Amino acid sequence: MDKVLVTGGAGFIGSHFVKRILRADDVAQVTVLDALTYAGNHANLGKGFLSPKLTFVHGDICDATLVDTLMSQHTMVVHFAAESHVDRSFTAASTFVTTNVLGTQTLADAAMRHGIERFVHVSTDEVYGPLLEGAATEDYPLRPTVPYAASKAAADLVALSYWHTYGTPICVTRSSNNYGPCQYPEKIIPLFATRLLRGEPVTLHDRGQHVRNWLHVEDNCQGIELVLRHGTPGEIYNLGGGTDMTSKDLTGELLRICGADWDAVMYVPDRLSNDLRYSMDCTKAAALGYRPQRDFKAGLEETVDWFRRNPDRWAPLSRSPLPAMRARVTLDMAREPQHV
Ligand code: NAD
Repeated sequence: MDKVLVTGGAGFIGSHFVKRILRADDVAQVTVLDALTYAGNHANLGKGFLSPKLTFVHGDICDATLVDTLMSQHTMVVHFAAESHVDRSFTAASTFVTTNVLGTQTLADAAMRHGIERFVHVSTDEVYGPLLEGAATEDYPLRPTVPYAASKAAADLVALSYWHTYGTPICVTRSSNNYGPCQYPEKIIPLFATRLLRGEPVTLHDRGQHVRNWLHVEDNCQGIELVLRHGTPGEIYNLGGGTDMTSKDLTGELLRICGADWDAVMYVPDRLSNDLRYSMDCTKAAALGYRPQRDFKAGLEETVDWFRRNPDRWAPLSRSPLPAMRARVTLDMAREPQHV
């Protein structure tokens, strides 16, 4: 029976994964290690806390002593913990390097010493940087353009170095943009949904031309579990969702679902750095059986509905509202957060 250590399990994707892996009959124990930063929330684990298999440890992945103790008690690791928000990395890059790079190295080092059987390091398509055309396979060059993506690329390389140097059986998953319930309302879908549900305006960068590939969080967790169980150590697996969309088209969908119109949209200058397009080839994960199941429009409607039904989960977290502005205007708000 496996004992799984999940870092960042109180965050958005990690909490979905924990609830999924708790249902596995061959998993005897799941331990969440989470520092409960602004992005972490006990409530994300919901009914998971009713499971006798679940243990929650409030701690930092950079705490080598704590990590060493926990690693000695587990057979598998799924590593989600990270600073995950691009805009925050523009002003707090050192925190991103500390958590994302040093934290990953601390975990990999302990995994090596304790002979961990399987380790999945969860990463992002943003490490490939922008692709104007085509799709990145796993051997595509790393060309991150923002501190967040650079810290994740560095973490990927550190993690894989433990396979090459010590044979520590680490795999890397790189997923596209996730959406679904429980996401902290700072990235574009939960931010726009919560603002529109309150009748507030949203801000779209530049002309809304940036293309992202949208993956339902449950589909990502399906892929991560497949890689955990069947991935080849030392290998990287792209996990994309198949739904490419510009920010403007995504905004149109959110306006429709929330019953708002384009008057609620303010166009603002682009952020400091904003990759035009990401795209990944997921053939390798498909060979493991990876098949994104969720229809994007239905998944988006369900996601907005979750925010509509759970205002207690996001209203206290939301930033102070923008000025009540119902006209389509352009403001000098280049640093206005809006994340894709
Ligand atoms: P999130 O920000 O919602 O959650 C991160 C979690 O990590 C939080 O619970 C936080 O408390 C915890 N954490 C942060 N620093 C920590 C530390 N030093 N020690 C222990 N815990 C710490 O992130 P997410 O969106 O769920 O992303 C999870 C992983 O997936 C990240 O590694 C991210 O880079 C990657 N990823 C996310 C997306 C996406 O669209 N959200 C896409 C691709 C990859």
